[in-house]
Amino acid sequence: MADDEMTPKERFHAALRQEPVDRIPITGITQTGTVDLMEACGAYWPEANQKAEGMVKLAWAAYEVAGIESVRVPFDVYIEGEAAGGELYKWKKDNQPMMKKYAIETPEDVDKYEPPDPKRDGRMPEVLKAIEMLVPKAEKVNIPIISPVFAPFSLISLSLVNMVNVMMWLKTDPDLYHKLAKKAVETGVIYAEALIDAGADTIFYNGGADGTVKLDDFLKISQPYSSEGAKKIREMGAYVVYHSCANVKHLLKDMADIEGIHCISVSQEVDMKESRELVGDKVALAGNVDPTYTLVKGTPEKVKEEAKYCIESGTDVLCPGCGWGPTTPLENMKALVAAGHEFGKMARLARK
Ligand SMILES: [Zn+2]
Repeated sequence: MADDEMTPKERFHAALRQEPVDRIPITGITQTGTVDLMEACGAYWPEANQKAEGMVKLAWAAYEVAGIESVRVPFDVYIEGEAAGGELYKWKKDNQPMMKKYAIETPEDVDKYEPPDPKRDGRMPEVLKAIEMLVPKAEKVNIPIISPVFAPFSLISLSLVNMVNVMMWLKTDPDLYHKLAKKAVETGVIYAEALIDAGADTIFYNGGADGTVKLDDFLKISQPYSSEGAKKIREMGAYVVYHSCANVKHLLKDMADIEGIHCISVSQEVDMKESRELVGDKVALAGNVDPTYTLVKGTPEKVKEEAKYCIESGTDVLCPGCGWGPTTPLENMKALVAAGHEFGKMARLARK
């Protein structure tokens, strides 16, 4: 693009620091695996979610085929829970796997729990290998490398323990929860360090379960642990994008106070204009085109219209509000990218 003055990596990182950009970054901070991209590159889930070679091919297709200006691996969120001893099932071409069995089922399991070893456990070594393979490719075209790590409360309640048990322990034995939360901080920090060592420059710190709790609880069971983890990850030199799922309007102002984070990836349920008003300029914002109704089911025109609205409303990074749906048509993915090029100079941080 002739109008580009910054590289995609410079642009994305500047936006995360809330510094001027030439136009909005169009970055794949949420999962980018779609069936259309699988068909374009010949790497399919579940293999492309299990082995480094397929992960690299599919991640690269988001850049090469769709024009998204980053690469991100892997494409599901259960890496840590699986590496800790959990089991996944329902591996499909057009769907992410689900948790079948959790690593922690009893209070005794909490005592026994040790953070997984990224060089040894589950698919962690494959993710690290994929990042190492992506580094020279990404360097050639100056695009960022992003990888997800669960924030502590979300790791516990979505991937380590059945959510029902978590809620029960919080009521009957909160100390048990807090003991586990400390170990969950450590789990994320150890894994993030390995991802950063392998070459990831941005950690997508996934707070996807926050939307299930009230503000009071968020401040007790999620925010302090996320602050502890995010600060440590930032100290290692990485950018930290905190992700929210579902309607977190009641939390957003306080979410922006999580120490160490550069940015919040706002779920589509919260209006971008309201998000900006709630957060001010405490952190950068990313989002939040609707991944289902707009990107999977809508037309390219609707995608462009909603992307334009997000840009005008104050997002700093153009992307969906959550992971790209696997059945997103390629033309809709390309429409989002096109909207970023067409309207990106209207972004809050764009030089006038
Ligand atoms: Zn989400």
